[in-house]
Amino acid sequence: MRRDFENREALALYLAQEFPQAARIDGQISPMRGGRKAAELLLAEINPDRYSLSRNYLDGRITRLSPYIRHGVVTLKETKELAIAKVKDRLQAVKFVTELAWRDYWQRLYAMLGKGIWEDREELKTGLPVDAYKQSLPEDITSATTGLACMDAFVRELRATGYLHNHSRMWFAAYLVHFRRVRWQAGARFFLSHLLDGDPASNNLSWQWVASTFAHKPYFFNRENLEKYTNGLYCNSCSKRGHCDFEGSYEQLQDKLFRIQL
Ligand SMILES: Cc1cc2nc3c(=O)[nH]c(=O)nc-3n(C[C@H](O)[C@H](O)[C@H](O)COP(=O)(O)OP(=O)(O)OC[C@H]3O[C@@H](n4cnc5c(N)ncnc54)[C@H](O)[C@@H]3O)c2cc1C
Repeated sequence: MRRDFENREALALYLAQEFPQAARIDGQISPMRGGRKAAELLLAEINPDRYSLSRNYLDGRITRLSPYIRHGVVTLKETKELAIAKVKDRLQAVKFVTELAWRDYWQRLYAMLGKGIWEDREELKTGLPVDAYKQSLPEDITSATTGLACMDAFVRELRATGYLHNHSRMWFAAYLVHFRRVRWQAGARFFLSHLLDGDPASNNLSWQWVASTFAHKPYFFNRENLEKYTNGLYCNSCSKRGHCDFEGSYEQLQDKLFRIQL
């Protein structure tokens, strides 16, 4: 593989020629820079204290290290040690190190389960039969034309950057599986074909956690929750505000979406 290019456009052109199948799925190239130097800039920015307070917010102090960790540019061990070295009391790094541990846990399960991560690990806890869920992604989702400002923005961001915040991944997965009744595998395949950190273990087992085939209950959310953690970024300008799929209390949504008392 060539490694030197006059500019980024030349690199993009070369990649499209070398990987025509990938270019057909999506021709957009993420602005994210690869390599150890770019990763070190992000490592230097880790702030475990602020991370634990703000992780769930879209503008929170997350690291964006996942593509580098996924591809072995940095290790979990060095990330963990650096985070602990940055705090006065080790307890301040607990939240951050716990998230790193999730990645390790999913990897260990993958080593045990192999292709089994594509199968439901447990029965659904939604009270619905498996055949209540569609096998493939609806077209309005992949083309970002649902009319829901949040979900359409997530799809555009995923395609353009190859990255999504953890909370956006959770909201999108819950929307697809519970609000649109699509099998989690269809969503997992969609994510894996676009995420720069796309990893079968973290991805599929997280999708299963949302779907409830690897959790004791389904994960879902209401508009209030999404609005809070996005600071109104999508809801304020959404044409469906006030009558979107996510309006209502958790109890009301639970009755609408599932066939059991949670
Ligand atoms: C539906 C869904 C699909 C996902 N698919 C992937 C995937 O394909 N690849 C992937 O690496 N992560 C995946 N995740 C986990 C998580 O969303 C990303 O690791 C995280 O958002 C990456 O951003 P960051 O580097 O800024 O994370 P930070 O919050 O800064 O965390 C630091 C590192 O810890 C690890 N980490 C953090 N949160 C998690 C988590 N919940 N599970 C496992 N590891 C975590 C990652 O390696 C991450 O880079 C998925 C989550 C969901 C809900």
